[in-house]
Amino acid sequence: MKIRSVGEFGLIERVKNKLPGLKNAVLGIGDDCAVINYTKDKYLLLTVDMLIEGIHFDLRKFGARKVGRKALAVSLSDIAAMGGIPKYCLISIGMPANTPLKTIDDFYAGFLKLAKEYGVELIGGDTNRAQKLICDVCVIGEIEKKFLKKRSGAKIGDKIYVTGALGGSIKGRQYDFTPRVIPARVLVRNFQVNSMIDISDGLSSDLVHITESGNVGAVIYESRIPVSRACKSVKEALADGEDFELLFTMPQEISEDVLGKRLGVPVRMIGEIRNKREGVRIIDKKGKKRELKTSGYKHF
Ligand code: ADP
Ligand code: MG
Repeated sequence: MKIRSVGEFGLIERVKNKLPGLKNAVLGIGDDCAVINYTKDKYLLLTVDMLIEGIHFDLRKFGARKVGRKALAVSLSDIAAMGGIPKYCLISIGMPANTPLKTIDDFYAGFLKLAKEYGVELIGGDTNRAQKLICDVCVIGEIEKKFLKKRSGAKIGDKIYVTGALGGSIKGRQYDFTPRVIPARVLVRNFQVNSMIDISDGLSSDLVHITESGNVGAVIYESRIPVSRACKSVKEALADGEDFELLFTMPQEISEDVLGKRLGVPVRMIGEIRNKREGVRIIDKKGKKRELKTSGYKHF
């Protein structure tokens, strides 16, 4: 059997099934960050993400500075998804021997500028030769135990909210996006959020991560989905990956304007958490219900 036939999530599930279960960790495989005990009131958050030239980025087209920024931003987004504060990072990097030094200088310029903006300290890494530029960034963050948000936890009746606009990030926003660390902090400190994830695989896939882990169903309204100007259709807004917006559920229905002003980013209420029996559905502009297909980015 080949990896292709089990896919990314099948593979992760396979690894998980080999494990004896958690001994000391609070949360292991299956959320945006791993969670471990830290102090009496706080947890540590850990996340690691790899970017590979030709798969995650086009070095020639976008330049190393943007790639360096993105390498850190994707992990900051995972810290945001838990409601946390990023603190430290480590980076492993591989490249061909004939890579111009300027490429690496530019990469670090982009990386370190974002690190400075978010007060993240680079504390180590690893360097290797590779056939293409490849990097793997680990970010360590912290979160007050009482504010920790997981993918699981959505309750029937919760409203489903999303920040920003979705789709078409391949046109460039995938390099320039603002990781939603600050809005996520405002959210977890001031609102009763039951579940949260960052949208990296695409709205439809990431909504299913929320419903599956919470053992619930959902309904969303096509007319409410915020479609980015960079994409043409709701279909793309549902399927395209790398939006790095927040998807979260809350029992209260709060005005989008009020919430948007508090968070400093536009917010849309796109639907509601339902009983698992109802599945995950989308209601189109004519009022017709259909099953929501998960169609996000697939590595295998
Ligand atoms: P995200 O898109 O939020 O970065 P992923 O879809 O990459 O999350 O990963 C989902 C979960 O699976 C995370 O908990 C991650 O740590 C875990 N994971 C991913 N790849 C592996 C692997 N090869 N071995 C063990 N755990 C993994
Ligand atoms: Mg994530």
